[in-house]
Amino acid sequence: MTELQATDPTFADLFAPDAELEHLAGDMTWAEGPTYVAARERVIYSDVRQNRTWAWTDYGALEVEEEPSHHQNGHCTDVDGLLIACSHGHRSIVRQEFDGTWTTLANTFEGKKLNSPNDVALHPTDGSLWFTDPTYGIDKEDEGYGGTQELGGRYVFRLSREGILTAPIRDRDKPNGLAFASADLLLLADTGDDAATFGYRVDASGSATLEREWFRVDPGKTDGLRLDIEGRIWSSAGDGVHVISPDGGTELGRIRTPETTANLCFGGPYGTLLYITATSSLWRIPTRTRGLELAR
Ligand code: MG
Repeated sequence: MTELQATDPTFADLFAPDAELEHLAGDMTWAEGPTYVAARERVIYSDVRQNRTWAWTDYGALEVEEEPSHHQNGHCTDVDGLLIACSHGHRSIVRQEFDGTWTTLANTFEGKKLNSPNDVALHPTDGSLWFTDPTYGIDKEDEGYGGTQELGGRYVFRLSREGILTAPIRDRDKPNGLAFASADLLLLADTGDDAATFGYRVDASGSATLEREWFRVDPGKTDGLRLDIEGRIWSSAGDGVHVISPDGGTELGRIRTPETTANLCFGGPYGTLLYITATSSLWRIPTRTRGLELAR
């Protein structure tokens, strides 16, 4: 059990004594953006640079999900349980319909192309989709189809259920992973030079106000994060996954991975399995908690 490293005694309660980090798949270039699609009984994740998405099914099979994926990165599911993807290649937010076809939900703001949407989260009560729009997918040759930046910044967007796109957060350097702790609290990772995760208060009209820095990880940066049903934060980091108290103030422990962890999600039929995308590999460890999104 060398991969579990407690810094707080409560960390041990999150795992069965025999819980093991299991290697499920390898040979990816940069595994990212996992999400559990309950209706399809699978975790879907990206290899942005291989221009492919993969699925790990609840029955233990690895399948190519979409190829080319047009450099999809982050994913979530919407209020109908449909898969939502951030497409670097198409510089858009897209939805996969029940018949498997893709619909573009957003690709411009005020007449200008989006940069390259990176990660997306469903608001827990109003059904809006919030996504980050840094420029990695147009700056890095192998992470998209190129292009130039048209927007004047790297914003966080809100797409309402009615399809209205607004940009409530404009004060970040490189907004990246994001997760709702509650209907009025968004945790947003910034992977810019002074990388940290920030808490924003969100109101019913869809505006957002910076409250404070929530936490920062060391080594590495928070690229992706999720919460469990007790509000604990599970964040990616250079050495694995860090588990942090709900207020961001206390690290509870770490799940160490051999390579840098980019992102993670809870999944499985009960929402208790933690899936970790760490550079070349997909890992899984059973927990004794559940993903907050899956319990909503
Ligand atoms: Mg990301």
